[in-house]
Amino acid sequence: MPIGHAEAVNPDIIMITCKRLFFLTAILLLSANFASAENKNKILAGKPEKPRFTVKDIEWPEKFGDASVCLWKDDAIAAFSLTIDDNCAPDHEWWLETGKKYGFPITWFVITDRISGTNSFNGTWEGYKKLIDAGNDVGSHTAMHLHIDEPGWKDIETEYADSKKDIEENIKGHKAFVLAFPGGPNTKLNDQEIAAKYYIGCRAGSAAINPANMINYTSINSIGAINIGNAQFESQDLLTALEKGRAKRAQFYRGWYCCHFHLVKPELREELSKPFEFLAAKIKSDELWAGLFRDIAMYGQERDTAKLTVKEVAKDKIVLSLNDEMDDSIFNYPLTVKVRLEPSWKSAEAMQDSKKVKCRLVTNNGGNYALIQVVPDIGDVTVTGK
Ligand SMILES: [Zn+2]
Repeated sequence: MPIGHAEAVNPDIIMITCKRLFFLTAILLLSANFASAENKNKILAGKPEKPRFTVKDIEWPEKFGDASVCLWKDDAIAAFSLTIDDNCAPDHEWWLETGKKYGFPITWFVITDRISGTNSFNGTWEGYKKLIDAGNDVGSHTAMHLHIDEPGWKDIETEYADSKKDIEENIKGHKAFVLAFPGGPNTKLNDQEIAAKYYIGCRAGSAAINPANMINYTSINSIGAINIGNAQFESQDLLTALEKGRAKRAQFYRGWYCCHFHLVKPELREELSKPFEFLAAKIKSDELWAGLFRDIAMYGQERDTAKLTVKEVAKDKIVLSLNDEMDDSIFNYPLTVKVRLEPSWKSAEAMQDSKKVKCRLVTNNGGNYALIQVVPDIGDVTVTGK
């Protein structure tokens, strides 16, 4: 008898009570699910009124079982994305080689109406598929780039909606999650609220690093170069994101450095090798997370709304749960969770939803830690150690 003080009760009454309880629980669970699905965000739109959290240095919790969500993937200091506008097909091969050589993925924001036309500058759908297959991404730079005088122009909503549809119809299995607002004389037609209906992240033109705790996901800042060691433009310098105390305006430390390029003339390619070598070293040392624009936008919004709970700490295991407030049908990028392990554990593994998930051991100041890749809202994570 598993229950301590159970007395003899008519089994029929128990059955009825159980059925009722089951029914009530089912209703409660269903309504909770509906409520959470309805309340879940498709994007965190607009500029936050105040910082969403305090940006700290890399954390090393002291107590066994203590856990936190890392600011960026793999506990990197800062995030970096490289994006390219206006199709620029003559550069595709060079970018493919360059991204592979230095270890960063690339996001192309394409003007969709121009693809598969007669002008070889704009590329072909097959060409863009090849870029995606190599680990890069293709998002929207609208259908017509705000050329409102050209035939076919309707309105800004059509521009955002049709370009997304065009990409997804022409590249099977691919989703265009992100948008870069076009510049030029009609730039005032861009509309963050309308774009938020179609995209999870929109890139704008303000040349600054995105402070990690103040990201406006419908107007993500981007810099037209990779500045390194440029004292004149602190808010546009990659070192400001990576080195504490460098910036007078400290909010850029540990931020998201997004940059954008157009056509890179062959004579300029040579000049870029120095910043690329710097990037490669920082990526290799895990100080910099070089990610796709969409992945960083996804990580940021999951992290900004994440709730991490340590449910159990036992001698041989730790159980965690991670939830967020983002739409689970889109936002399924793993967040890196750092957990302090028991000092005697020589190895650890992590399971989520009965599947093994990536779990890497790191040490700091005599302490053992695991960096675990956890997708929010798909079930508890059990970390076991030996
Ligand atoms: Zn453009």
